[in-house]
Amino acid sequence: MTQGTLVKRQFGHRARLALSPAGVRAADDQAHSARTMWNLLHAWWQMMPKEKRTLANADAAIRQARQDIDFLAALPAQAAQAVLKTYVQAWKNCWEGRADAPNFKGRLRTVMSVDIPQGRDLNMTRVHRRWGMVNIPKVGRVRFRWTKDLPVGKHANAENRVTGARLIKDVLGWHIAFRVQTLQVKPKLHQGPDVGIDVGVTVPVALSDGKTFEHGEWLTGEEKARLLHLERRAAQRNQQRRPGERTSRRLHHTYDQIAGLRAKAKRRALDWQHKTTTAVARTYGTVVVEALTITNMVKSAKGTVEAPGKNVAQKSGLNRSISQEAWGRTVTMLAYKTARLGGTLVKVPAPNTSRRCSACGFTTPGNRESQAVFVCKNPDCGWSGNADHNAARNILHLYRTGLALVPAAGRAVVRRAKRVKPATAR
Ligand SMILES: [Zn+2]
Repeated sequence: MTQGTLVKRQFGHRARLALSPAGVRAADDQAHSARTMWNLLHAWWQMMPKEKRTLANADAAIRQARQDIDFLAALPAQAAQAVLKTYVQAWKNCWEGRADAPNFKGRLRTVMSVDIPQGRDLNMTRVHRRWGMVNIPKVGRVRFRWTKDLPVGKHANAENRVTGARLIKDVLGWHIAFRVQTLQVKPKLHQGPDVGIDVGVTVPVALSDGKTFEHGEWLTGEEKARLLHLERRAAQRNQQRRPGERTSRRLHHTYDQIAGLRAKAKRRALDWQHKTTTAVARTYGTVVVEALTITNMVKSAKGTVEAPGKNVAQKSGLNRSISQEAWGRTVTMLAYKTARLGGTLVKVPAPNTSRRCSACGFTTPGNRESQAVFVCKNPDCGWSGNADHNAARNILHLYRTGLALVPAAGRAVVRRAKRVKPATAR
């Protein structure tokens, strides 16, 4: 067998940690300290005159804070440095138009997390087929579920190693997300056919060759009823609260149960997305998707007085935000999965894909007969078919006529257009 070219691959791997109650408390303390550190840093940054906002000054301020405030010492020095690095990166993202300006992090709204920037601090070993041990600074040795072959021990070298990790807490408890770097054989060019994909209104994912990927409800009827019941109970308890009274233990418990059910729905959705995108990346060589811009996504579904929006109910509210978010994630997954299997993901600018006839190319705003069926208004054509397939075929057509916008090989590069203030605000 000949050795192919080796390419570097970086990926994350998440595993559940088996922390003792004391370990959970220690990790919680670290996360709260990290958040406080961020808030102090943000306050310091805003207070400083511009010319004094340097990395060296910020570093000095952090060291001073760790000496002055007792509970900040719970945070390992490396993690404190990571907070500074993330903070500075947040400003860079803002200046380059990818994100809003960094802000204070609230206790209840922030995901609890701690960075472990140095891979060598982790000192990982495999102790069982299903278990590994990892060193967590200021917590100690902790067991984690071993579900993936990680470059650890004698398998680790300069190119294949765990470069760092991050502790993250969700409703299931503390997890560790490893940053892994490996060298892998470059995949052969995928010989599969081209395909266009549309995020459907009637089906979640429609392909240009007529295939669809569908899913049921993420929660069963029983679970939905329970969620509704819990939400009502939380609302009632919240109403009975006197102003200034702290949230009761029971209300906190209800909130946790609600979060648990929502997280369950999200896990099921993620699982479906992974299976779907893997199937697509395995079957097709070139995958073409619509390049969604943030402005499109933020744009009100209601439209304006002059041009009222269509399908307002379908597009607005939670449903829409979830489906848009899910679509963004689908594209991200497709980008790395196609790259790993030798395929390509292409994004095309796609206005009018739902209004253009894929058989004759005729476009009128009135082409769309209903949500599900597309009927061509061109008297010489009269083609009709599933509306989502029609859109997917249009997307593929745009790619074939050379309208490719971003060949998103490897990592998906998410770029956000610089915000332009509306004329009235300027
Ligand atoms: Zn037509």
